[in-house]
Amino acid sequence: MDHLWSPWRYSFVQNPQPAVNCVFCQMLAEGRDPDNYIVHRAGHNFVILNLYPYTSGHLMVVPNRHVATLEDAGADTLQEMILLAARAEQLLQRAYRPEGLNIGFNLGKCAGAGIAGHLHLHVLPRWSGDANFMSVIGETRVIPEDLSTTYSKLRDGWR
Ligand SMILES: [Zn+2]
Repeated sequence: MDHLWSPWRYSFVQNPQPAVNCVFCQMLAEGRDPDNYIVHRAGHNFVILNLYPYTSGHLMVVPNRHVATLEDAGADTLQEMILLAARAEQLLQRAYRPEGLNIGFNLGKCAGAGIAGHLHLHVLPRWSGDANFMSVIGETRVIPEDLSTTYSKLRDGWR
């Protein structure tokens, strides 16, 4: 097997640079977790509330490195992402008693990614009828809970 000598890549992996104009990188670097609704930091990823939640309790698991694809994320990050999603599933079940959950990725703007340059895994509770009349007709979603309430509910669960 041939090995490509790529010291530039090694230094990128060791010292990831936050991307300019990326809101995830910015919030991770700021260290103001409660203000940015970061509920948990792990070794390779962090967990943050979606500022524009589809339903109450809408979380995202986000790699610490600015990567756009599953392939670029690497095995350690991907493995931890799924374990964090499993923990999120458990906490959301406990806090919200949903009837179901959506857990998934949107890769690329055309697929619905709001922040296309930085991979993120959505985890959100679902109830029958939550995609209701208001969202279909008015492009407006009714969120029954403010973000700081969601934050304190879910933040405590990670401790
Ligand atoms: Zn980023």
